[in-house]
Amino acid sequence: MTNTIYHQLGISNQVLSMSQEVEKDLEERFREIDHIAEANQLKVLHAMQTHRLSDTHFNHTNGYGYNDIGRDTLENVYASVFHTEAALVRPQLISGTHALTVALSGNLRPGDEILAPAGKLYDTLQGVIGIIPTKGSLSEYGISYAQVDLLEDYSFDLQGIKNAINERTKLISIQKSKGYDWRPTFSNQQIGQLIRFIREIKPDVIIMVDNCYGEFVEYDEPSDYGADLVVGSLIKNPGGGIAPSGGYIAGKTEYVENAAIRLSAPGLGKEVGASHGMTHSLFQGLFLAPTVVASAHKTALFAAKLYEKLGFNVIPASRETRYDIIQAIDMHSKENVIAFCRGIQSAAPVDSFVTPVPWDMPGYDAEVIMAAGAFVQGSSIELSADAPIKPPYTVYFQGGLTYYHGKFGVMKSLQAMVDDTDFKL
Ligand SMILES: *Cc1c(COP(=O)(O)O)cnc(C)c1O
Repeated sequence: MTNTIYHQLGISNQVLSMSQEVEKDLEERFREIDHIAEANQLKVLHAMQTHRLSDTHFNHTNGYGYNDIGRDTLENVYASVFHTEAALVRPQLISGTHALTVALSGNLRPGDEILAPAGKLYDTLQGVIGIIPTKGSLSEYGISYAQVDLLEDYSFDLQGIKNAINERTKLISIQKSKGYDWRPTFSNQQIGQLIRFIREIKPDVIIMVDNCYGEFVEYDEPSDYGADLVVGSLIKNPGGGIAPSGGYIAGKTEYVENAAIRLSAPGLGKEVGASHGMTHSLFQGLFLAPTVVASAHKTALFAAKLYEKLGFNVIPASRETRYDIIQAIDMHSKENVIAFCRGIQSAAPVDSFVTPVPWDMPGYDAEVIMAAGAFVQGSSIELSADAPIKPPYTVYFQGGLTYYHGKFGVMKSLQAMVDDTDFKL
């Protein structure tokens, strides 16, 4: 019966049987992912029960948003989940970049320095910090930036970090996920080792982790290893695909307050900010997030194993333990990249009839192709893919609200290659 529907949806017998083999090989890995999801589900549930979540917390607030108990409870629940003193969780945080910007600018003053001890930060932060000259950047406010690159084997350059820390170093920014870089994603334990090393040199420095794509992939979070601030987007992992927008900043009360003051205004802080009826979705998204992240995690693993079997270079490899939900695959040619993205798009619940094409996107040195058919615009916890059209023709993809959909999307990507290019199985 399931096979009949796969055929109706355009999947050939060859792709189907290959997928079934791959899935069989992954049974044990999938069980481990389920164990992680189980632990995280209980952690989230426990936090909701501890804070006595009730339907009165789902009420709409408007205007200033004073006494929004739903919003305050949501923030307390986030703080419990991340084991931090406080959290700022707001639909007014537009994106991950915005949440990171608010956390940085709220905690830095003229004369301070940011140190990136583990290599280059996410593309959008280049402008925020002013590494690329940009209007309104932190550098225009007299905040400087230093960076220590990873060593050749992708380990931390401890001596370099020690040399780079000075009396002006105020905030350390560590990015957990590789993003669109060619390095492994750090485990929380690895981040913890780095944090311990830095604390010995400068105990009072603020350590912030960009946790985008990392939430609920492991049993714990960077805040369990001494990070002062963890920051992420609600249209990625912790929003569970349900949050229509938002970001979070969890950490020490003082630093979260500093960020809140920058989001609202000096003297106002966390006390204001109406939730416009979105609290319900943010709670429900968080509740679903552990299983949704598990689906995305399995989807990435399924893709890695399938494309590895076909002889493509994949990062991370299927045997590796994963610390985020991003999968990179070198597709060898422009035709393959385009077919891959078209396959992902054709599998989407929304805009499945749209054909993605490469285009010149501002800020990129090559054409870019993107596939996304999401319920929430730009949501990358939903199945999505993008690739710059240049060698080695790497496609980055992530998400999958359900594993069944994610798996089908990956099958469609292969099917599109078989149907539309010279590629032979
Ligand atoms: C997605 C992401 C961000 C923020 O991106 P937005 O599109 O602004 O949400 C920051 N850092 C990393 C590592 C990311 O993956």
